[in-house]
Amino acid sequence: MSQSITRDNFDEWMMPVYAPASFIPVRGEGSRLWDQQGKDYIDFAGGIAVNALGHAHPALNRALKEQADKFWHTGNGYTNEPVLRLAKRLIDATFADRVFFCNSGAEANEAALKLARKYAHDHTGPHKSGIVAFNNAFHGRTLFTVSAGGQPAYSRDFAPLPPGIRHAVFNDLASARELINDDTCAVIVEPIQGEGGVVPAEPAFLRGLRELCDRHQALLIFDEVQSGVGRTGELYAYMHYGVTPDLLTTAKALGGGFPIGALLASEACASVMTVGTHGTTYGGNPLASAVAGEVLTLINRQEVLNGVKQRHQWFCERLQAIGQQTGVFKGIRGLGLLIGCVLDDRYAGRAKELSMLAAQEGVMVLIAGGNVIRFAPALIISEEEITAGLDRFTRACERFVSGGSS
Ligand SMILES: *Cc1c(COP(=O)(O)O)cnc(C)c1O
Repeated sequence: MSQSITRDNFDEWMMPVYAPASFIPVRGEGSRLWDQQGKDYIDFAGGIAVNALGHAHPALNRALKEQADKFWHTGNGYTNEPVLRLAKRLIDATFADRVFFCNSGAEANEAALKLARKYAHDHTGPHKSGIVAFNNAFHGRTLFTVSAGGQPAYSRDFAPLPPGIRHAVFNDLASARELINDDTCAVIVEPIQGEGGVVPAEPAFLRGLRELCDRHQALLIFDEVQSGVGRTGELYAYMHYGVTPDLLTTAKALGGGFPIGALLASEACASVMTVGTHGTTYGGNPLASAVAGEVLTLINRQEVLNGVKQRHQWFCERLQAIGQQTGVFKGIRGLGLLIGCVLDDRYAGRAKELSMLAAQEGVMVLIAGGNVIRFAPALIISEEEITAGLDRFTRACERFVSGGSS
């Protein structure tokens, strides 16, 4: 059956909002994938920071199949054991007192922004509705979240956009201070801008945002959709920074590949959301919750989190060497296993081209804008897989500088 499907079918049948690679993966194991022709790839993309435990992890398969044999879905008129266990795990592991479950990062951010508006309405009044976000941020593709995002190219075609959102300069506290005032209900920020180029926040910037939010009774929302669930070497990046938000959104790696998102909140914030004020059909679905519960159990262990820091070293040492040897990069940045290599000015705008060469050599990498190659592999990727993948990536870089696209 799969033999009769080709990549060309994508161009015929799919709404053309993506430009997927020229090959179609059909099977995965750990940090390796195989395409229709049986060619193998080392996966440094991790499904965009989603497959934190790689592909076909036996314990995740078991959790999914065990729940699949019981029941899949009931809707929110009934709760279920997997979702309650998952909620308790998240509460025990973080600042949160309560959790709202949904299916994606965008939905989690949508819920956070709505909660912030309602919190301000209930406690102060409807004039307190301003939202401060940041240039180059990414928060999802619903109309509200894409408007909070700081890339006008993603939102302007969908105007009129929801009003009341303003953008400051990321890592520039003075520019945020100009926009945050008593009419601000929320500040939303990624501790590490992922799509925006793998740019970690400076600790003083996040501390300063916390102080400004406290001064003006605004809620501080950390969008940890990409940075969460062990990615930085801590369970959540806020733990790395030592700055605690009022609301935190998590998705991507939370399900290890099964769609799920969550909004974590303090009791004070959560209490404004009462029966009927928000919801979603699949949120807290037992299949997703069973898998996510297993993901958290496996990742929230000191040896796994320390392993992320170790792997960061392995990656960065090799990437530095590749940069020196080929001159492709002018800098390497990121935390844990979210790493960005910034292309040298000579190669500005050509990240996509390099990523396509990498795929030809048998290694999947991500881009973050036109100038950054991004790595977001499984948190448990083996040293052997890292070495093999970086060998392939080295060949791609060599071909790239020698101008050999073919
Ligand atoms: C991917 C991402 C989102 C959107 O998540 P979806 O599941 O695609 O809706 C939001 N915020 C950040 C920081 C992300 O990286």
